[in-house]
Amino acid sequence: MTPSYTSLRQVQADLRAGITTCEALVSQYLTQIEASRGLNIYIEVFAEEALEKARMLDARFRENPDAIGRLFGMVLSLKDVICYEGHSATAGSRILAGFRSPYSATAVERLLAEDVIIIGRVNCDEFAMGSTNETSCYGPTRNAADETRIPGGSSGASAVSVQANTCLASLGSDTGGSVRQPAAFCGVVGMKPTYGRISRHGLIAYGSSFDQIGTLTHSVEDAALLLEIMAGKDEYDSTVSTQEVPAYSQQLTFGRKAKIAYFGAALNHPSLAPDVKAACDGLIGRLRAEGHEVEAVDFEYLDYIIPAYYVLTTAEASSNLSRYDGVRYGHRSAEARTLDELYRKSRTEGFGSEVQRRIVLGTFVLSAGYYDAYYGKAQRVRRLIHDRTMEILKTHDFILLPAAPGGPWKLGEKIDDPVAVYLADIFTVQANMVGIPAICVPVGTHADGMPLGIQFMAGKFCESDLLAFAQTLYS
Ligand code: GLN
Repeated sequence: MTPSYTSLRQVQADLRAGITTCEALVSQYLTQIEASRGLNIYIEVFAEEALEKARMLDARFRENPDAIGRLFGMVLSLKDVICYEGHSATAGSRILAGFRSPYSATAVERLLAEDVIIIGRVNCDEFAMGSTNETSCYGPTRNAADETRIPGGSSGASAVSVQANTCLASLGSDTGGSVRQPAAFCGVVGMKPTYGRISRHGLIAYGSSFDQIGTLTHSVEDAALLLEIMAGKDEYDSTVSTQEVPAYSQQLTFGRKAKIAYFGAALNHPSLAPDVKAACDGLIGRLRAEGHEVEAVDFEYLDYIIPAYYVLTTAEASSNLSRYDGVRYGHRSAEARTLDELYRKSRTEGFGSEVQRRIVLGTFVLSAGYYDAYYGKAQRVRRLIHDRTMEILKTHDFILLPAAPGGPWKLGEKIDDPVAVYLADIFTVQANMVGIPAICVPVGTHADGMPLGIQFMAGKFCESDLLAFAQTLYS
């Protein structure tokens, strides 16, 4: 029997009532992992270790039901970009083959301290660069709603691990939509917090001024609880905020009417599929009927978001990924005879073509003579997008946006057209450009029956409001 829990609250109620045990739960999830092998979700399953931890927790609970952490019963998968002490982390890349992390990400440590059970490491686009999960060196992960389709990316397998009930929740990372877009494509909740809300210590870097750890869950309440536990200051990440962390999971009632903005330019964008537009219009109608104020606002920078994002993130990535040189970690070419060859061959053999494309692009935009025209200009565009978005959020609680212009496409369909894939990030990237929190919740299905999600963005550190509002939409 597959566990069909959709929140930790249900799991804990059954654990307390003696209806299930952590061990039984982990065994059922392991069975489901085996049954869903064809989806290519897991790179590695920590079966024995998870079972052992489950038995230990069951024993501790039997002895003293109060001696257990807040995540008692939470079975979690980790995206392959998040470090877990003593375990491999390869960012879906050959270049990190054989790397074992000597430490855990701060986020992981905090979850472990609350008795989470980590069941395995899941697939993702190589170095989180992608929107389809097809750039992984382990091959693509498939959408559980239709195996011929992509699950989205880059945290595609994190989303499918939850969608296919192989665990209760997953940690992903979101640099330009990697948690929210797969959540939309797989019918789960995807939450990206404010930049600096969760420590990035132990998250393998892609674009450091954009990256945030996020969650994929069945419920908003689980997203709130995980965030509450992971967030907060950390001496290992100087960009993390020292702002107090609210008890998000205790504040899930949104007791007032919201003022919500949407961009006319987004809902009339030529790339938007009619069924996504219809879903947005339907939701806007419902929100108005519930008494919320929803209005169209001008946002004149929509078409500049993607170009600026792909200049800035590739620039940051080219610098971040320079550390993979065949000397310190992972893959080292066996062919090299000189130091120069060692770097060149190790990187050529170790990185896949999408990552190479981005390193070359990022190096180009940072190079002397081009820096001002590309990187400098993109920074200025980022500032304009930031300022305009913050201006809108001064007078509105939330901004409603589609998560993606269309639904999940067929595996391989856009593999030869990277620009088409980049353009499909148009609605998710803004939150990362600005550093604001955003959540994607399922609202229905596309015309072909695939899951459809819609996203809300809020002001910096307004996760409490955002989660509480999302809870009113999806609970
Ligand atoms: N699809 C986007 C990219 O390839 C976002 C990826 C992410 O958020 N990690 O950059």
